[in-house]
Amino acid sequence: MDILKKSLKEAFTLAELMKAAIFEDVGKITVKEIPKPVVKSDEVLVRLKTCAICTWEQRVYQGINKVAFPFIGGHEEAGVIVEIGNDIDRKLWSVGDRVVVGLLTSCGECTNCRIGEEGSCENFSYENFVGGLNISGMGGFSEYLSVPISKLFKIKGNLPYEIACLTEPLSCVVHSIERAQIRLGENVVVVGAGIMGMFHAVLARQQGARVIVIEPNENRITKLHELGFEEVIDPKSVNSVDVVKELTDGRGADVVLNTVGISSLAEESIAMAALYGRVILYSSYHPDEPITISPNTLHRRMTKLMGSANSNTRDFETALTLLNDGIIKPEPFIAGTVKLDDIEHGIKTAIDPNKYRIIVEL
Ligand SMILES: [Zn+2]
Ligand SMILES: [Zn+2]
Repeated sequence: MDILKKSLKEAFTLAELMKAAIFEDVGKITVKEIPKPVVKSDEVLVRLKTCAICTWEQRVYQGINKVAFPFIGGHEEAGVIVEIGNDIDRKLWSVGDRVVVGLLTSCGECTNCRIGEEGSCENFSYENFVGGLNISGMGGFSEYLSVPISKLFKIKGNLPYEIACLTEPLSCVVHSIERAQIRLGENVVVVGAGIMGMFHAVLARQQGARVIVIEPNENRITKLHELGFEEVIDPKSVNSVDVVKELTDGRGADVVLNTVGISSLAEESIAMAALYGRVILYSSYHPDEPITISPNTLHRRMTKLMGSANSNTRDFETALTLLNDGIIKPEPFIAGTVKLDDIEHGIKTAIDPNKYRIIVEL
């Protein structure tokens, strides 16, 4: 009888299922049961606890970002190790370790990965199968992932999973802010106060800059004031470039951090930069409309025009340190949590520009 029970249990283990949210088509997401990953010898099994809904997934849902369906999204996740592969050093990793999961879509072998720029992996594809799932995508909207330890970052103390899962978006802003090389007392303009703009504003202020934010949305303006950002320009009623010039005695901004993917704002960002100004185009552009740049203006004003996209392992380490040590407190930017079964409602809520991050509890 015991033997029968044991073999039944084994058979059950092999076919063990878990819940996952699958994007089936544009505007269609279904929560269903799929096989739970079986941990490989050089990986650990992570029981995911939270995954934030990024703008990227919102765009997949809306059909703006194209993927091949069926597809599993979610790339801002945190969880706990529940099983350890045989080859993993048990002195370094234990069952019960709370972790943030990094970029599972980077190959680790191409030149960009080798130079530490995993966010720009040459073999990057959303259609990769990751985390031991037999469905393409990043896998964060599932209950379990099998993950190599090189992609894990340890959560310290009792930092809540709802905060820890914001490591990925914060890491992208760390990447951008470090490119800007802000100096004490500089005039920094942040264009847009969505969560990414807010993170830029908070980090720029932490670096000793005077921060001016351009934002038309009333709710976001209120939030900015609550957080102590007094200098907010509402572009609905004034010309942002003129006001930035006025506020800086005609000099313009030493650094412009543009977090809004509208091409005309990229032009404005360049126009408001001071002599030796650094302009960072952070957001992606949909549609990607070309802009007009005067080469002579860049030449004369010695403007440094830069892009910033994604993040690397080092940025993840920095971002999680900022959260672990309470240097950055992202609570004001969490709009709420939803259960996995209600993820579609969560995505629809997240699309509302009045809402900051919605987090899925897994
Ligand atoms: Zn993201
Ligand atoms: Zn790579």
